[in-house]
Amino acid sequence: MADPDVRSAVLATARAMNAAGLNRGTAGNVSARHEDGFYVTPTGMDYDEVAPEDIVFVGFDGSVSGKRKPSSEWRFHRDIYAARPEAGSILHAHASFATALACRGEPIPPFHYMIARFGGADIRCAAYATFGTQELSDAMIEALEGRCACLMAHHGMVVFGGDMKQALALAVEFEALCEQYWRVLALGPAKLLPADEMQRVIGKFAGYGRQD
Ligand code: 13P
Ligand code: ZN
Repeated sequence: MADPDVRSAVLATARAMNAAGLNRGTAGNVSARHEDGFYVTPTGMDYDEVAPEDIVFVGFDGSVSGKRKPSSEWRFHRDIYAARPEAGSILHAHASFATALACRGEPIPPFHYMIARFGGADIRCAAYATFGTQELSDAMIEALEGRCACLMAHHGMVVFGGDMKQALALAVEFEALCEQYWRVLALGPAKLLPADEMQRVIGKFAGYGRQD
């Protein structure tokens, strides 16, 4: 994709994230890997007032180019791309159900087989650290080990996919799962799937959705 097209697609994904009810106002951010860096939404701007030219390029060497300042969370975007070669796009949101669960600081256990969609038998919760810090990024990299999503304690959620479309779709599935877990908890203690079944489902998801 040419640079202007990536900028437009990042902005469209950020707007779609809010339109899908995953995020509100200037919270959250979206990025897409491109060559030796990534394009990311600008910090603190309403996506309705952002133009494609406002999307900022951050190089893996730390260089920043654009008319705006990058998201305050550029560190975890950079570190996820570095740690996870399969990540083509990252989406961070303060989605209501995910954030409510994240405020408990606990992982989401295997109450439903779809937990395995995110790579493991649970979804971890990254330890709390101030937004925009290296400490937060380090905690998230740890929580994402073997996974493509995690909660962020007292903050929200992050998910990555191979491309922007996939990252957005996974974020929608993630928030749906968080809402379902919320409702299960309202009924009483959650009943969990056994570890061997989760391993079976993790194996099935490795080839899921491929039509070849
Ligand atoms: P930015 O506007 O700097 O991207 O920050 C939003 C956010 O969610 C911080 O965690
Ligand atoms: Zn945030």
